[in-house]
Amino acid sequence: MASRSSSMSRGEKQGRGNAAQSSAPRRRPSPSPSPARRNVARPPPPSNDDDEGRVRVAVRVRPKNAEELSSEADFADCIELQPELKRLILKKNNWSSESYKFDEVFVEAASQKRVYDAVAKPVAESVLNGYNGTVMAYGQTGSGKTYTLGRLGKHDPSERGIMVRALEDILSSISPSADAVAISYLQLYMESIQDLLAPEKSNIQIVEDSKTAEVSLPGSTVIKVRDIHHALQLLEIGESNRHTANTKYNTESSRSHAILLVYVQRSVKGKGESESSINIKKVDDGDVPIVVRSKLLMVDLAGSERIDKSGGDGHMIEEAKFINLSLTSLGKCINAIAENSPHIPIRDSKLTRLLRDSFGGSARTSLVITIGPSGRHIGETTSTIMFGQRAMKIENVMKLREECDYEALCRKLELQLDFLTAENEREKRLRDVEMKEMQNKLKEYEQSLGERGKSLALISESSAREKRTLEEELGHILSELSVQKERHGMMCKEVESLQLSLRNMRVELQVELQNLANEMSPMYNHKHNCYELHNEFVNERHLELGTMKREVHEEEQLELLRLEITACHETFADARNMYETKISDLLRQLEDENTKYKILEKEFIFMKHLTDQESSRKIQEQTELDETRKSLKELRMLYERTLRDIQLLKLENEGSLVSQANLSEQKEMLQKKLSASVLEREHLQEELAKLKNSMLIGSSNCEVTRSHGKENTDQFAWGIENHSGKFRSYQSRDTISIQRATITKIFEEVGLQKIVALLRSEDLDVQIHAAKVVANLASEDANQEKIVNEGGLDVLLLLLDSQNETIRRVASGAIANLAMNENNQALIMCKGGARLLSNMASKTDDSQTQRMVAGAIANLCGNEKLHAKLKEDGGIKALLEMARSGHKDVIAQVARGFANFAKCESRGAQHQSGVMLNLHFAIWLNMKKMQNL
Ligand code: ADP
Ligand code: MG
Repeated sequence: MASRSSSMSRGEKQGRGNAAQSSAPRRRPSPSPSPARRNVARPPPPSNDDDEGRVRVAVRVRPKNAEELSSEADFADCIELQPELKRLILKKNNWSSESYKFDEVFVEAASQKRVYDAVAKPVAESVLNGYNGTVMAYGQTGSGKTYTLGRLGKHDPSERGIMVRALEDILSSISPSADAVAISYLQLYMESIQDLLAPEKSNIQIVEDSKTAEVSLPGSTVIKVRDIHHALQLLEIGESNRHTANTKYNTESSRSHAILLVYVQRSVKGKGESESSINIKKVDDGDVPIVVRSKLLMVDLAGSERIDKSGGDGHMIEEAKFINLSLTSLGKCINAIAENSPHIPIRDSKLTRLLRDSFGGSARTSLVITIGPSGRHIGETTSTIMFGQRAMKIENVMKLREECDYEALCRKLELQLDFLTAENEREKRLRDVEMKEMQNKLKEYEQSLGERGKSLALISESSAREKRTLEEELGHILSELSVQKERHGMMCKEVESLQLSLRNMRVELQVELQNLANEMSPMYNHKHNCYELHNEFVNERHLELGTMKREVHEEEQLELLRLEITACHETFADARNMYETKISDLLRQLEDENTKYKILEKEFIFMKHLTDQESSRKIQEQTELDETRKSLKELRMLYERTLRDIQLLKLENEGSLVSQANLSEQKEMLQKKLSASVLEREHLQEELAKLKNSMLIGSSNCEVTRSHGKENTDQFAWGIENHSGKFRSYQSRDTISIQRATITKIFEEVGLQKIVALLRSEDLDVQIHAAKVVANLASEDANQEKIVNEGGLDVLLLLLDSQNETIRRVASGAIANLAMNENNQALIMCKGGARLLSNMASKTDDSQTQRMVAGAIANLCGNEKLHAKLKEDGGIKALLEMARSGHKDVIAQVARGFANFAKCESRGAQHQSGVMLNLHFAIWLNMKKMQNL
């Protein structure tokens, strides 16, 4: 990111005067993550820096105030800034100065925006990317910490400090629908945490997750922020509550730490579908919904000046120490981490516990150290610079905290499964319907195909029949035609013969006529001759009439001739008529033949026409047949395609059935996982109940008993009872051995590892019971090594810091028992046990707790090699202080301690016996006092 690359760059080597120059940066190992939450040690987003996790430190110098300006002459400037070289020169005096390199150096005129961009913007971006982040201001009172960090800039936005700007950046970068931002605003004063958003809540406890070591404040108010105006309102409320609280309790705000916690939760969706624009990569979880949670811690620290210097606040030294405890512890932790020390006193104060992830942890951390320009405070300025220099050496390993939301995944998968099942069923239904439709269609097609086939067969049959009949008819017609033709031929022949005969007859007739004419012509001639003769006869008769009138005979002859002529005429007319009728008959016959011929011709043409029609119909039928065949072919193709479709649909259906089966398998697996975790939980609960029961069975009525088994060592044994029970007197050896037997039984049944794990339980009851069991087990030599190996000692030491008196008491008793063993003594000392015990002794008024603590220290006194360290860690002092309690059991333990101490001393160095005598004397004095009491 551009802004990141321009942000504070890697620091050079430390200044000339810096003694801690050579020590390498230190990383603290982080506890292993729980299975549900994964601390992914993935490299943070790309950057040019090769020391990405190192704590970045910027120095900011405040402009001179009116007072400093007026007294300029008295106090010359003690610093010189070289911002371009990111260097600060500290002038010790006129002739010596030291140069220090920082990640960023801001001169007096540096704007709030530039400071934010360089110091806090990369941290805010990291938080948006899922990493924890811390921004902190350290410096003397009045040097500008609150100005840099907490300024609200109500009237002038350019004045806005880091808190407002960071919230502005975060709120503008998230998706309001998918992500969430919430804040808590707290004040830490005198090791008590007060809620600035709900001032009635004071003394809020810090809770650490034993598995992830994550720190939380369950009692604090966490308010979901809607937008920057809402955030500003909350900051304003916090500021005014801080002011009110400080006035009410007469505390000085410069002595309290203001802590703003910004919780960011972002959801990361499936591949490439991240709601946010930023680059949060999805882990390889398939479709597991992932929630990324991060936290931005912004701390306006109390003034770094020493308590006596703040002047006039009238605190007692002890109180002052308490006020300073958090800041002092922070300094110590930073020193220890920077120096690679094996022990980092994180648990010494609430501030260091809250900041455990910020220094040497997994957060991206930026620190602004603020200094005033005046030489008057050179001491504070120097110590502030040294603090910054040491912090620069700390390197964190940034870790992304991604949580797989298995329940959401299960829900999502179930929904998906339901959806897919419904979809599948719907598809199946659709497919069934489609299939039915297809089958119906197919049936219809098949039916129509059958019908068509049938009709086609019928058609073809009938057409064949028709064809046959037509062919027959055609045969008939043709034969008839040929008969007709024959007949026609015959007729023609007949006609020809008739015509011939007619012609012949004509010729004959003509010949006959000719003959007749020839015959007639003599007759005509004869007639003519007759006429002529007649005429001549007439003429002659006329002539002779007169003469032959007489010749009457001649006349009669004439009459005969006349008769003969008429008969000739009649015969001629008859022959003529006969021939004429014969000719007309023949002509009529010819005409008939002609009409018959014409009719036959017409019939022939009609038959020909019919044959043509039949053949065209045949062609038409053939084309129809072809078309039907074609449509049949198409239907077959459609049928095959439909079959293929059905096949494909079947395959698809099988595929979806397989995917459904896979999904059900996945669901079953998840359900199995869930039920396995439920079973595991139930199993643990059962074991817990068993443990409680076993404890109750073996319950004796005494809380603390003591055995006198060993010389100079006291064993502390606990009967298990309701932990509200009263304290009772010592018990008999029998009772103790019964208890031990019970404890041994529990130990065997449950196993030490689980008992030690229960020490970390969040349930106070369980924790107390477990501590008692461990304490009792620790009284057996055989168990001590096992307890230490299982980490019991570490947890017991942690429990010394508990808020609960009973736990502290039982834990110190257990440690006292463990401290009987020489090896354990060294281990306890090495782990800072003596210091913890001493601290506890000074904090508690409870005589039983004091007795346990004194017993533990007394046991430690038995080891001569540890005497020096014991003294150094305040063990001896604590013993003496406890002797003042006046309680005889406590004093007895104190006396035992000194006796152990003296024994060793006298064994080791005779010349120190004087000191020992003094101690004995002190004890004797206390005993005396007690007797008087
Ligand atoms: P601190 O919180 O360290 O005690 P403050 O932030 O209250 O100090 O600052 C003390 C005074 O100095 C305030 O009046 C503040 O306005 C002023 N001041 C601090 N730093 C600057 C700065 N960089 N520019 C202008 N004024 C500043
Ligand atoms: Mg301040």
